[in-house]
Amino acid sequence: MHYLRALSLTMEKSTTLQPETGGKPIVMSGIRPTGYLHLGNYFGAVQNYVKMQDEFRCYFMVADWHALTTHPDTKELRNNIHRVLAENIACGLDPEKVALYCQSHIPEIAELYLLLNSLAYVGELEKTPTFKDKVRLNPNNVNAGLLTYPVLMAADILIHRARFVPVGKDQEQHLEIARNYAHRFNTRYEAVFPEPEAFNYHQELIKIPSLDGAGKMSKSENQYATLYLSDDDDLIRKKVMKSKTDAGPTEKDSPMPVEIKNLFQLMQLVCTAETTTHFMQAYNDCTIRYGDFKSALAEGMVKFISPIREQAKSIQSNKIYLEKVMREGAEKSRESAIKTLREVRRVSGMNYFT
Ligand code: ADP
Repeated sequence: MHYLRALSLTMEKSTTLQPETGGKPIVMSGIRPTGYLHLGNYFGAVQNYVKMQDEFRCYFMVADWHALTTHPDTKELRNNIHRVLAENIACGLDPEKVALYCQSHIPEIAELYLLLNSLAYVGELEKTPTFKDKVRLNPNNVNAGLLTYPVLMAADILIHRARFVPVGKDQEQHLEIARNYAHRFNTRYEAVFPEPEAFNYHQELIKIPSLDGAGKMSKSENQYATLYLSDDDDLIRKKVMKSKTDAGPTEKDSPMPVEIKNLFQLMQLVCTAETTTHFMQAYNDCTIRYGDFKSALAEGMVKFISPIREQAKSIQSNKIYLEKVMREGAEKSRESAIKTLREVRRVSGMNYFT
């Protein structure tokens, strides 16, 4: 509660824009079902979902429409959706406490997306770095959905009038765009939407680096340099032992190359403080043996990932349960979405009956 009190001032204005939630600020976030969840998804997003579920009104979504922009083949979609749900629950998310739902089960999002498209300018969308990256990676599939991805993301958030959005660093810019659209709508019509903020408790947003020192861990790129929550123990060890290092420090307290810094960042997340301090000292006095360092990191990873993996497997095999979660999540989510759309239609003059 202490944290929420600290926020109360900034919240004052926005809570007047949110529906009645018993005083709980509204939170929304989503993950695309484009592959296996990885450590980046965990530390950038899901860890905060779990922490937030008691104090906030939470809407967490599996973003299947977003997946179509880069993954048009839907053969694996159902499996992927079930797995993302199971992995979220295995990480500690409680579907009784939050609305855990699938994006395409909420048609109201599509209507809001359509309306927001008129507030979005093509020029600014074309300048979005994530759009440019995707065009570079996949020049043969530059679809309009890719361009308007940030508009759909804004609709996902604004449909619940969410104030906080727990996401990793890679989503920071999309959040800024969502804030702009909320502001434009409020200014053009009437104040309906709080301006949503990227959220990571008191800290900077996180970027979990890949094991090869290049870029971030990701569901669909860098698969051998990404640690997935479904990786078995041997694979985790293999990936960590193969991670990129250099020849080692030759002078005391020398600056760390980025790939070594990354491995220390990962170690801090899954190993004890003593272990990290031990290897940090060894680095600083040039006695570090990267083989030992990586073994300790690998064991920390195995200890962290294996219980989540086993739990996720068992949840994923229970299709009846997962379908119930999706159905109930959609009900909770639609209840909120319908209320917002009613307001949106009213203030934008799109209600034609007396
Ligand atoms: P991916 O990029 O792996 O396909 P998504 O786009 O589905 O992941 O993102 C789901 C959530 O996980 C977002 O909040 C995103 O910011 C976060 N995320 C993804 N990769 C990382 C990473 N390497 N470090 C931190 N957060 C990440």
